Amino acid sequence: MDRFIYADNAATTRLIPEVLDKMMPYLTHQYGNPSSLYSFGQAARQAVDNARDTTAKFLGCRFDEVFFTSGGSEADNWAIRMSAAAMEKKGKKHIISSAFEHHAVLHTLDALKKLGFEITLLPVYDNGLVRVDDVRKAIRPDTALVSIMFANNEIGTIQPIPEIGALCREKGVLFHTDAVQAVGHIPVDFSGMNIDMMSLSAHKFHGPKGVGALIMRKGLRFPNLIEGGAQERGRRAGTENIAGIVGLAEALKISCSNMDKVTSGLIAKRDRLIDGLLKTVDRCRLNGDPVRRLPGNANISFEGVEGESLLLLLDLKGICASSGSACTSGSLDPSHVLLAIGLDHATAHGSLRLTLSDDNTDEDIDILLSEIPKIIKRLRDMSPLWEKIVKGEQYS
Ligand SMILES: *Cc1c(COP(=O)(O)O)cnc(C)c1O
Repeated sequence: MDRFIYADNAATTRLIPEVLDKMMPYLTHQYGNPSSLYSFGQAARQAVDNARDTTAKFLGCRFDEVFFTSGGSEADNWAIRMSAAAMEKKGKKHIISSAFEHHAVLHTLDALKKLGFEITLLPVYDNGLVRVDDVRKAIRPDTALVSIMFANNEIGTIQPIPEIGALCREKGVLFHTDAVQAVGHIPVDFSGMNIDMMSLSAHKFHGPKGVGALIMRKGLRFPNLIEGGAQERGRRAGTENIAGIVGLAEALKISCSNMDKVTSGLIAKRDRLIDGLLKTVDRCRLNGDPVRRLPGNANISFEGVEGESLLLLLDLKGICASSGSACTSGSLDPSHVLLAIGLDHATAHGSLRLTLSDDNTDEDIDILLSEIPKIIKRLRDMSPLWEKIVKGEQYS
C-alpha cells in the first residue's frame, strides 16, 4: 500500500518509541517481582512507585488514590459495581448516568438493574451534552452514584465535569467519570474537579494496551475488586503489570507535557477537515457540539450512504476510520450514541468517525478531503436510497 492514514485514534493509538524504551527493561532483564524483599525485586517496586507518583502528579490526585487496572473497561466496572455494592448497604439503589456512555458503563448498569438497582439515563440532546440541571433534578435521597463520561468516544463532546462534580459534592452523592477519552488529550484535574472516581486507559494516549487505572478518592471504602495479595493496597490483587504501568506513566507524562503545543495544531487540522467536508459534500452534518469537542474528533453523517461500505472503500485507499465505536462495529445496530443525539437509523448508519492525533500531517488532511467526497459520490451514484432522497421522496 502506497500510503496509510490512521484516523481512528479514539479506538486506539500508536505506542510511541520513548514509551516502549521505558518499558523494555521490565520486559527483559528487570524481571523481579515488586513483592520480593531482595533488591532485585525492589527495583521493580521502585518503578511502580515512580509510575504511581507521575500518574498522580499529572492527574491532580494523591499517590495512594491511584489503582492500576487492566484498562478502562475494568476501571469502569470496578468503580460502578463496587460503589453500588457499598451504597446498597445504606439503602441507596438509584444510579444516574447518560444515554451515550461507553458500553463498559452501560452494560455494567444493565447488570445492576437485574440486581434491583434503578437506573436513570439522562438525555444528551442534539449537541451531545449532558445538562447539569438535569443531573440536579435527577438526584434523589436514594441516589447512590452519578456516572457521566468526561468526553464521548464517538462524537467527542466534552461534558461539564467540574460543574457536575461540584453539584455531586454539594449533594453528597458519589461521582464517577469515564475519562478514557479525555486523559492525555484535554486538561483533567481529579481533585480540582471534585471527582470521586475516574477511569483511564493507557492505549488511548499512546501508551500500551491492557493497562489503565481507576483513581479513587482517599477514604472511600468499597469491596475489593480482586482478592489475593497486597498489591494495589489490597484492593486489586495480582502481580503488577510493571512494564504496562511504567508505560502508562511515561505516556501520560509525554501527552500532558505536550498538550498545549499539540492541541492548537490538532484543532486546526480537525476544523479544516470538518469544514472541508461540510463544504464539498452536500447533505451531510457534523455530529456533536462544534466547539465543546475533543481536539481530534470529527464525526459526520452523510445522507444516502451506508457506513460499512464507506469504511471498506476507505480501507482500500489505506484510510483507517470508524463508523461507530470499535466495540459495536460488526453489529448492524446503529450506534447508541448517534441515536441518543436524535439521529434516525438511516442517518446514523451513514456516519463516519475520523479521530486524528499529532501523527496526522496536513497532507493526510488533504488526502482525506480529496478521497472522502469521491467515495461518497461513488456510493450515492449506486444507491437507490440516495435517488429517492434527491427526488424528495424520502427525508432521512
Ligand atoms: C476505549 C474506551 C473504554 C475501554 O477502555 P479499554 O482500556 O479498551 O478497556 C472505556 N471508555 C471509553 C470512553 C473508551 O473510549
